[in-house]
Amino acid sequence: MYCVLRIREWIVVGCAALAFAGCQTTSERPVNPSTSLTTTSLPEPMTVAPAAPLTLPPPQRPPPNSSTIVSPSALPTVTAPVPRESPTINGRPWPADWFNAWVPLESWGRFNGLPKPQLLAGGKEPLYQLQSSNGLVLVKIGSQSVNIAGMQLGLGFAPRLIRGFPYIHSLDAQKTLQVMVDSVYRLPQTNRTIVIDAGHGGRDSGALSCIGHDHEKYFTLDWACCLAPLLTARGWNVVMTRTNDTELSLADRVAIADRVKADVFLSLHFNSGVPNRDLTGLETYCLTPTGLPSNLVRDDEDDVRQAHPNNLFDQENVQLASRLHSSLLRSTGAVDRGVRRARFMAVLRYQNRPAVLVEGGYLSNTGEARRIATPEYRQALAEGVARGLD
Ligand SMILES: [Zn+2]
Repeated sequence: MYCVLRIREWIVVGCAALAFAGCQTTSERPVNPSTSLTTTSLPEPMTVAPAAPLTLPPPQRPPPNSSTIVSPSALPTVTAPVPRESPTINGRPWPADWFNAWVPLESWGRFNGLPKPQLLAGGKEPLYQLQSSNGLVLVKIGSQSVNIAGMQLGLGFAPRLIRGFPYIHSLDAQKTLQVMVDSVYRLPQTNRTIVIDAGHGGRDSGALSCIGHDHEKYFTLDWACCLAPLLTARGWNVVMTRTNDTELSLADRVAIADRVKADVFLSLHFNSGVPNRDLTGLETYCLTPTGLPSNLVRDDEDDVRQAHPNNLFDQENVQLASRLHSSLLRSTGAVDRGVRRARFMAVLRYQNRPAVLVEGGYLSNTGEARRIATPEYRQALAEGVARGLD
């Protein structure tokens, strides 16, 4: 079992700060934008506020249909600066001054043809609402989380008020808000292969359930075994990283996905909040885009300049994570702890395909551990994933 560090909860709409720790030996720290990116001067309202220079490298896409299996440990971390990329959004170029900048929420909404943001709640940390065709977008000043279509999503930088107007960071706008209001990621319809990764195994037992002697590795394997036939029935070619109590390295799990040329990689885990036993709920993780701070950090490893192979799939990652998370919330009725970004998870960052890690509940909470111990809850988790992939 991993050692556990105390971490601080990111602030979510309507929720207080909490402390928790996950099964991935993690710590979490909210980022203070004033220490990580600073405006050089306050802009006029409805203009773009420049942030500190931060030039970032784009990941290099591997050759199409490459059959080479690359050992994750051999994959380099790219840190060299490169020119700005200029993505095209629905046929329109991303505005040239929306790079490493604070963008008025209203301007971003206008870019997407959305009506003006509506102030829902005032005070020191006001709450704004935007109506998009994919659902309501709720932006809270000072919160490292947005609520989109009723679901929490982590941001790298908390939105801020500049001269009384709400601003969002351009990278959060591009990598989270924009992706969520754009068209939905299309999963492959034929010859599709998914790798289901039951977390832990063998001597690596994962978190211990607080109500018995069972460990995380047992529950993740059962979840995976429930899920596989559901996906097979839906036409997926399912590959499991383990079907018994085998110990696998994180690199082994990535190599399996490379070997079978998986279209999607999904890692299944359960959480532990020790010593905080009050925490409950579902979390769904994908890799942090280059340039953004993570929502979950292990030790102090979170170099925002890093670009990993899986960063090629930033858009697909968050769309896939959101689909799965939303479906899992519906199937289980569990507490929404959000779609989050983490950079330290090696099982994600070396993937050459969309990849997501789900934490299916807290084994450290008595009530949730009791639910996780029932076959019915694990079946609900499996059905939530399967429906999310439809
Ligand atoms: Zn785990």
